[in-house]
Amino acid sequence: MITAVIIMLKLKAIEILPSSSAFAATTQHWKHRIRIRIRIRIRISQSLFSSLSIPSSFSLHPSFKHFPSVAMASLSSTSNDSSSSPSSSFHSAGDVQKIKFCQWCGGTTKHDIPDGEERLRAICTTCGKIAYQNPKMVVGCLIEHDNKVLLCKRKIEPSYGLWTLPAGYLEIGESAMEGAIRETREEANADVEVISPFVQLDIPLIGQTYIIFLAKLKKPHFSPGPESSECKLFSLDEIPFSSLSFSSMVVTLNLYVEDMKAGRKPKFHYGTINKRPGTSPSDIDAFTLEDHMQS
Ligand SMILES: [Zn+2]
Repeated sequence: MITAVIIMLKLKAIEILPSSSAFAATTQHWKHRIRIRIRIRIRISQSLFSSLSIPSSFSLHPSFKHFPSVAMASLSSTSNDSSSSPSSSFHSAGDVQKIKFCQWCGGTTKHDIPDGEERLRAICTTCGKIAYQNPKMVVGCLIEHDNKVLLCKRKIEPSYGLWTLPAGYLEIGESAMEGAIRETREEANADVEVISPFVQLDIPLIGQTYIIFLAKLKKPHFSPGPESSECKLFSLDEIPFSSLSFSSMVVTLNLYVEDMKAGRKPKFHYGTINKRPGTSPSDIDAFTLEDHMQS
């Protein structure tokens, strides 16, 4: 069964419409395909999330390819950045023109499309090596404890002072699950056991993919790590949706709340976050969630 959900929400508007998807129809594992669109200046007509605290402006919709000139809001997703948190490297991601020197020999680069390829690359004029750029993976944990979830308030930029799930860049040599456990230990001083994967969110514009795992505390202890000013458990109705750090976090937590409010176990979700070009990592309203599928 396939369900396409269009959520239009801004200034209190949420609307969900059923639809179908050929892709989902052919895939048994994916029972639903949900597309979300956020629009502005629409009053709430129906509310799937009416009881939730959701950003005042966001829309999830099927095809967010044409970004309106007006401010768009969207489901959230989070990205931590820089070395330990993903969101900071977004804007330079994929900008091959910024690669001026070869990372192997230090020679100057030229920017050209190599034979047999279609993309512009930075090519070393000395050793000839090509600097391929590929997406980075961000991993983290959604920790359930006493019907609450654990969030951390960021003590670093970007999104200083905003709330996030413990997450960060996957390191070479570790699995996604190992990375998620490590990031949770670093940011929340929490020792967790992973329960299952919960969501994969691709953010093509900034070259990032998020994998967030459901997890539980091995011991009921947590405290702020060096990158956090506070760590706190929130009930579903207390989640500070208007103060989340990244669109990936907004999406992840909305999907989780939706699953839980529906009285079911969390499903596994996949989706693509299309951020509006030119927006900052912290602009949690400037995106749409597309190709949402769930197990
Ligand atoms: Zn070189």
